[in-house]
Amino acid sequence: MRVDETKCVGCGNCVLVCTMGAIYIENGHSKVNEDECVECGSCKRFLEVEGRNPTLVRGLRKVLKKVSLQYDAPVGVCVAGALYQPTLEWPRSVRRDFSDPAAVHASTGIPGRGTEEIKTNDVSGWLQEGEALLLIEVGRPGLGARLRDLEKITTALATLGVDFKPENPITLLMPDAKTGQLNPEILNEKVLSAIIEIKIDLDKVPVYLEKIKETVKDFPTVCSLVVAGRCNKHGDIPYIDAVGTAGLALSTGGKTNLGLGRGGNE
Ligand code: SF4
Ligand code: SF4
Repeated sequence: MRVDETKCVGCGNCVLVCTMGAIYIENGHSKVNEDECVECGSCKRFLEVEGRNPTLVRGLRKVLKKVSLQYDAPVGVCVAGALYQPTLEWPRSVRRDFSDPAAVHASTGIPGRGTEEIKTNDVSGWLQEGEALLLIEVGRPGLGARLRDLEKITTALATLGVDFKPENPITLLMPDAKTGQLNPEILNEKVLSAIIEIKIDLDKVPVYLEKIKETVKDFPTVCSLVVAGRCNKHGDIPYIDAVGTAGLALSTGGKTNLGLGRGGNE
């Protein structure tokens, strides 16, 4: 994201809405720390363009300041539409692909981070009984994640032998999914968050969870871990013991798909 200084009046509204704290005011104008900006587009999307003349507003602010009064733009507007999105070239475009929910992901052709996670398993049948899905989300608004840090997890998992979900956007950035290494051109890019998805045998869950725990120790950002599997005929959740064996506890925020998809995968 960039700021057109000829239009910016330095009201600071964009500083308040930036998801990464990447905007600051300097010399009466806002500036974007491009290394920290993840190109999520939130600042531009959330601030309505008020359409005022920036020269007049700046003049008015100066006059009012002399008599200890202040002109404040209403919260939620950018006075003259100073924020603009330049064309993003590769590899910077990767930031937008993973961070802007309104952008169509270049590698998957669908918006956002481009993964359906486990939500469509009722229909796809990708995950069968005796298997588990591990989903590792790296980064969050306010912190983000460098793809070089995410790669530490994918390469660590690859040493155990792993089945990365083929259509996942992170997998699509690996020249050879057996190594877990990402395209070196994107390693310094920062995204709001990204998701790794792997399928493993149920009895291997503790081993993989231990590996993830060991790898993310002293990590510069946060990771959320999801374990998913198919319930057995009695409705039991098959991976609860495996998670406990790895010294972890499941949160109460689980999701259940009811098997209302295509017949044959219920
Ligand atoms: S909201 Fe617009 S006018 Fe206000 S500081 Fe940001 S870019 Fe400048
Ligand atoms: S695009 Fe997102 S990260 Fe970048 S300046 Fe705007 S809100 Fe902040």
